Amino acid sequence: MAQKTVPGTSLEGSRPTYMYKVVLLGSMSVGKSSLAYRYVRNDFREFLPTVGCSFFTQTLELEEATVKFEIWDTAGQEKYQSVCHLYYRDAHAALLVYDIASKETLKRAKLWLEDLEKKFLPDEIVIALVGNKTDLAAEREVTTEEGEEFAQTKGLLFLETSAKSNYQVNDIFMAIVQELLRREKEKASAPSPQGRSTVNLSESRARKRCCQL
Ligand code: GDP
Ligand code: MG
Repeated sequence: MAQKTVPGTSLEGSRPTYMYKVVLLGSMSVGKSSLAYRYVRNDFREFLPTVGCSFFTQTLELEEATVKFEIWDTAGQEKYQSVCHLYYRDAHAALLVYDIASKETLKRAKLWLEDLEKKFLPDEIVIALVGNKTDLAAEREVTTEEGEEFAQTKGLLFLETSAKSNYQVNDIFMAIVQELLRREKEKASAPSPQGRSTVNLSESRARKRCCQL
């Protein structure tokens, strides 16, 4: 797992700054864009336009660090159960989203997880399973226990959310941050020579170009 510090801005005051790329994965219409929009803009729209592959940024000023999130959203490629490998590249965390009102989307989330497991070692990426649309309680097809159990067997973070009613959206991102920071601490106490180090600007530019694919 990478500790990403931007050269020259790695220290703000006495706290480190970490940059983390988070990717959103899951079937069409489970609410990936809505979760990102709720988290970054604290708002909900019934119809969010799909505008190419794009990312939102969000900065968190925490007691121990400044955290800059790059939250990557898909551009509809999830329809074909495939997103380009550049989308995943250098991701530090993934939100694996399903819709609690659709069992099928949990099945699909399991396939996305298999894909992630092929691309990353377990300690390279923090994965959170997210059961979205809890406001649709009457239409629920996946119990909380089912999601929880699956997450537990796979060692994933787990929360149910509603982008619409703003339920636990912040919490899931906070849980990801806490886990990423915990891993940073762990890594700092046992430094690995192979650990990825600093991010350079040409790399971030290359990532932005991916958006136009
Ligand atoms: P994406 O394809 O995964 O990015 O899904 P979108 O964010 O575009 O959402 C798909 C549809 O589900 C839209 O009509 C949203 O308004 C709706 N939606 C998203 N999140 C929620 C939620 O938490 N509750 C409900 N009831 N609808 C949601
Ligand atoms: Mg979307």
